[in-house]
Amino acid sequence: MADTIFDQILNKKIPADIVYEDDRVLAFRDVSPQAPIHVLVIPKKKLVSFNDFNDAASTDVGDYMSSIAKVAQHLGLKQDGYRVVFNHGRHGQQTVDYVHAHLIGGRQLTWPPG
Ligand code: 5GP
Repeated sequence: MADTIFDQILNKKIPADIVYEDDRVLAFRDVSPQAPIHVLVIPKKKLVSFNDFNDAASTDVGDYMSSIAKVAQHLGLKQDGYRVVFNHGRHGQQTVDYVHAHLIGGRQLTWPPG
């Protein structure tokens, strides 16, 4: 699997504004935030895209999901709410081939997305 920018952030080869880290996930601020809080949460056990959850161990998927909720709580987003977005592939406009949850909040969001 090719090294992506997120592999390099995980391996501390390039800097990022890290807001949370434990043995399962790393969470850091998006370099181009779309809301007052826009954090990317990546699993330390690498998957390329959302579709890979199809073949992943259900415990790994479940652990990742609960870690995302933990990061949201850590950022103080729980009460007012937030959005979790996974972009997959061309139509989803995924640009980095390392699975990542966009955790977006801190303002009223609108729907539908573009
Ligand atoms: P995607 O479009 O793949 O779902 O989202 C990739 C996200 O990564 C984008 O929101 C983009 O702003 C963010 N991003 C790209 N390069 C970097 C980087 O070097 N550092 C950080 N913190 N975010 C990045």
